[in-house]
Amino acid sequence: MITDFHTHLAYHKIYPDRFLASLFGMEETDLKKSKHLKLLKLFLRDHSAKKLIKQMDDANIQKAVLLIVDDNNYLGRSEVDIYDKFEIHRMVLEKYQDRFYVFAGYHPLRNDRLELLQKGIEEYGFCGIKLYPPFNFRVNDSIMTECYEYANEKGLTILSHTGFSMKGLKNTYADPKDFLDIVDRYPNVNFVLAHAGYKLSDPIVNKLIRKHNVYADLAGHKTATREELALIFEPSYNPKILFGSDWPINNMMKPLSYLINSLESLYHEKKINNPELLENILYNNASKLLSK
Ligand SMILES: [Zn+2]
Repeated sequence: MITDFHTHLAYHKIYPDRFLASLFGMEETDLKKSKHLKLLKLFLRDHSAKKLIKQMDDANIQKAVLLIVDDNNYLGRSEVDIYDKFEIHRMVLEKYQDRFYVFAGYHPLRNDRLELLQKGIEEYGFCGIKLYPPFNFRVNDSIMTECYEYANEKGLTILSHTGFSMKGLKNTYADPKDFLDIVDRYPNVNFVLAHAGYKLSDPIVNKLIRKHNVYADLAGHKTATREELALIFEPSYNPKILFGSDWPINNMMKPLSYLINSLESLYHEKKINNPELLENILYNNASKLLSK
């Protein structure tokens, strides 16, 4: 069994053009005329997650966490607004109840942020919260308190982007160090530091991952060195590491299995010889978080 803890819908209408262009490595200046962007959009039409399900089936991934990003129009508007994004994800969840967990996007500068979050969790069946601080907020700012209090009361998992995102965003706001100010205050919330699972030698990530309620995912791990990545098999970190693909970012043209194969080959290369350590990353740790 495999759970992918970090996926997004491959549907262009839920992302602003500048975000799409940057995520897929385009250096265009005039996006309205960009042929590349038009072409990219032809590939990003998976509003019902059918293509993602096919990818998951091919890679033996039973379940995936689908993350909604609330950009609060920081890079301009996407074709559909946040309410429609919630609705689109609600429909996906309804269609594939046993395959997906949806995390509600939350942005503290949106006026009706709490109503929207409550609707997602209490009516739509979403089961966690996704934060994207480079869209102009800090996770340790007091404007985030109501979100954490709600999550703490409900025992929700909060997954936050960490590290550099793209040019033009507030990348310093995604520095993991800001989490040091909050994770102890909300013991009932499990915090997942996205993209930090292959940065375990970073002193801040290292300090955070030792806390009972902090986890890290492996989305984007192909950029890590094998030595750094191998730390995921160390017994002190291993129970906190979650496999994540970041589909469709950086891997739309390859089967998701290539990411799993790369972890398996690292496991063999390092002669770990304890299959449970690999199973923890691919499935057991995620199921502990998601069964709450
Ligand atoms: Zn992501």
